Amino acid sequence: MSSTQEPHVGLHATPPWQHERAVALLPHLQRLTAPNPGVMTGPGTNSYLVGEAATGWIVIDPGPDEPPHVERLWQACGGDIRLIVCTHSHADHAPAARPLQRLCSERGRRVAPPVLGRPSAPTARADSHFAPDRVLDDGEVLALHAPDGGLRHALHVLHTPGHAANHLCLLLPGQRGDGLLFSGDHILNGSTTVINPPDGNMTHYLDALDALDAACARLQLEYILPAHGHVLPQARPAIARLKAHRLQREDKIRRAMQALPGGTLDDWLPLAYDDVPAQLWPMARRSLLAHVERLQETR
Ligand SMILES: [Zn+2]
Repeated sequence: MSSTQEPHVGLHATPPWQHERAVALLPHLQRLTAPNPGVMTGPGTNSYLVGEAATGWIVIDPGPDEPPHVERLWQACGGDIRLIVCTHSHADHAPAARPLQRLCSERGRRVAPPVLGRPSAPTARADSHFAPDRVLDDGEVLALHAPDGGLRHALHVLHTPGHAANHLCLLLPGQRGDGLLFSGDHILNGSTTVINPPDGNMTHYLDALDALDAACARLQLEYILPAHGHVLPQARPAIARLKAHRLQREDKIRRAMQALPGGTLDDWLPLAYDDVPAQLWPMARRSLLAHVERLQETR
């Protein structure tokens, strides 16, 4: 039997980042990192490919519209892409969806794969407008079947607003506590999720973390696969740390607001983010606004 499939490296491996080839993490999971590294994107956007030759593939977050990346996605799936799912519509996640769909139809699959996700909200920035072919609902299941009809892979959809109003996560339940949580930008490894109002909302973000924790318990999800950075093991403790970190920051912001009650965001920023390099303050200022909105709402 001939096979071009690479041996898989496992979820704990941290091979050096590169953009030329997909990394097989598991027999049914590949990661291809887009060539868009940067301050906001870390090593680049991770596109995840779930499936196998017998079932075809689901592409999660096709990434930015970089033609070489789109070509590599198609190649890594052997041209057999069944669904294209965007976790949200930011410029480093969704713009490759239509070019990849076009490539699939040009190269002769009978039916081009639909682009799925949630439409951008009116609060989204102009560069994040997005209209999927079909809207994914909370709790929906996306399935891949073997040629004999047997169910092989089932991704559950969880709507997780907070980073973006149209953000969703995908859950692949495990059998032995080895389930996977595809977290998009809601949970990252190596960087901090920006909550940028009005499309971003801190209360929604924290509530969605609770919903993710409950889903991890229910579906035995053990690994978090973020859109930026390596795999995070021990999903539930990682979520608990993340939430604690946000609430600590919120305490610090509350104290800054109490110290300078007539102050503005620019007065509170250096106090509340004195542990963060000043070059990150412009983005931190957006998250600060999100916390201030939440504190003023819940006061
Ligand atoms: Zn991103």
